[in-house]
Amino acid sequence: MEAQTMSSDYVFPPEPQPSVPVRGSRQRYAVSRIFCVGRNYAAHAREMGGDPDREPPFYFTKPANALVPSGATIPYPPGTKNYHYEMELVVAIGAPVFKVTPEAAKAAVWGYAAGLDMTRRDLQNEAKKTGRPWDTGKGFENAAVITELVRVSEVGPLDKGAITLAVNGEEKQRGDLSDLIWSVAEVVANLSQFYHLKAGDLIYTGTPEGVGPVLPGDVITGQIEGLAELSLTIGAPE
Ligand code: MN
Repeated sequence: MEAQTMSSDYVFPPEPQPSVPVRGSRQRYAVSRIFCVGRNYAAHAREMGGDPDREPPFYFTKPANALVPSGATIPYPPGTKNYHYEMELVVAIGAPVFKVTPEAAKAAVWGYAAGLDMTRRDLQNEAKKTGRPWDTGKGFENAAVITELVRVSEVGPLDKGAITLAVNGEEKQRGDLSDLIWSVAEVVANLSQFYHLKAGDLIYTGTPEGVGPVLPGDVITGQIEGLAELSLTIGAPE
């Protein structure tokens, strides 16, 4: 007698849907896309060699399966000798928006988290120099660290408040959300000129000055007023 075969729609079983926990809820926020804003604090734009006054926002993306929950230990990634942290406010979209004004964009912001835009800076710098894509510098495994999400209805609009990061307890980044060159509403409105944004889209909104390298054994902690504290431990290289 023939063995019974399992029927399946997929030749390989699909990966689980990437998702983020939500404060005070059993339900999670399912993630489909991760957008990131380059240079959105004046002092960081300057430290990266840009002119904050003349540059409109620009974007890059990370795959949703690059997400790592805060509190994790991740391996020091391959292919880099200059692995950087960037502490950022993360915005979660909760309603469809396309080609909207900042006022309309504001209503589509569902929640916030604290996040790290982890970066292989040497690969990003090489890509900038040669005019090549940033993917290996920005869109790699474990490159999008995130805390739980907090609903806007719970925490209110985060238009101001300290954003800080420390490595092994020593403060490296300190900014204020009010220093964003492009506000959250302006970023969402601008991004919606290019994409049909909807629930499941996360936006990393840019980092203040003070980015720098970490090494195996380092512990990163970060804080944004009103949100959960973020932490990340860098493990041995793979
Ligand atoms: Mn960034």
